[in-house]
Amino acid sequence: MGSARRHAQLLWCAATDRTFERAELKGSEVLAGKCIHCNCMVCVDLDGTRVLRATVEHIVPRTHGGSDTLENLAIACGRCNGAKGIRHDPSPWGDPKLMAMIERLQDRKRKRMREPLAGLALPPLDPAGAADEEAEAPAKGRKKRR
Ligand SMILES: [Zn+2]
Repeated sequence: MGSARRHAQLLWCAATDRTFERAELKGSEVLAGKCIHCNCMVCVDLDGTRVLRATVEHIVPRTHGGSDTLENLAIACGRCNGAKGIRHDPSPWGDPKLMAMIERLQDRKRKRMREPLAGLALPPLDPAGAADEEAEAPAKGRKKRR
């Protein structure tokens, strides 16, 4: 459920994050890079079949109105994003710790941003809820379904 969308989000995050590079993992091509929180290695499978420890992190948590735009998404390892990890969404809005965390993540995200890696077949990011970001259309001649 929603896994194709989730995978598209992971791929886009990885493709536009300078810590991620192409690598091979057990015979399949992956993008390997670093968790936004702890810098441990996470991998996203290019064909969408599986991921290694990679989960989508919302920098401004969805519970606080954070969107699914690329700017608000990052990749975190399952440990950081899991129940025992660095969950920041339960804190009330305005909580100094929460605000500091968001600022830190936004800063990190900005520093990691790059043009999408060339040569990747990136699936469309689900436009639902996402405003028109600057048009990033590396694949030419592709028809969008609506
Ligand atoms: Zn982590």
